[in-house]
Amino acid sequence: MGLIIRSSAIHAAGCYTTTPIRKGTRVVEYTGRRISKELADARYEHSPITYLFGLGDGTMVIDGHGMAMFINHSCDANCETSEVRGRVWITAIKNIPAGAEITYDYCLYDGGEDEAICNCGAKKCRGSMYSKEEIRRRKRAAKKAALQAPKEHIKKHPAERKPGKRANEA
Ligand SMILES: [Zn+2]
Repeated sequence: MGLIIRSSAIHAAGCYTTTPIRKGTRVVEYTGRRISKELADARYEHSPITYLFGLGDGTMVIDGHGMAMFINHSCDANCETSEVRGRVWITAIKNIPAGAEITYDYCLYDGGEDEAICNCGAKKCRGSMYSKEEIRRRKRAAKKAALQAPKEHIKKHPAERKPGKRANEA
């Protein structure tokens, strides 16, 4: 198996295979230092790009370093990730032809303000790199926030304003 990093149509750089990969094959390990979620939050608070992979219950993350950190997200991915005794493997879920880009579904969570818009180009693209559960959670949170918004915020909507005379013209 030969993996290479080169520019990708999905995003920046991507990981490609130079040889065919059979379904079920472990393609690459997601390597990198294990750090606490807290440390990762502090370290990357102002960083637009991170290569973090959440482990187990999410208290620890892998701070990606190696081939796997370049693998892009796709909503119709050819690989999936699995955690086996603290190690994360990227495994083929389809037969992958030589020259294809390696992808897996990021299923992002905990993205804060980031919209994590997806540009994978798949027919069934969900438009976001967040997991389906996270998309539902964020929608609920947005709805709740809208309901709790102060009334004066709603009143400021410009569409409701009619042009009126200024006081000194009356
Ligand atoms: Zn997508």
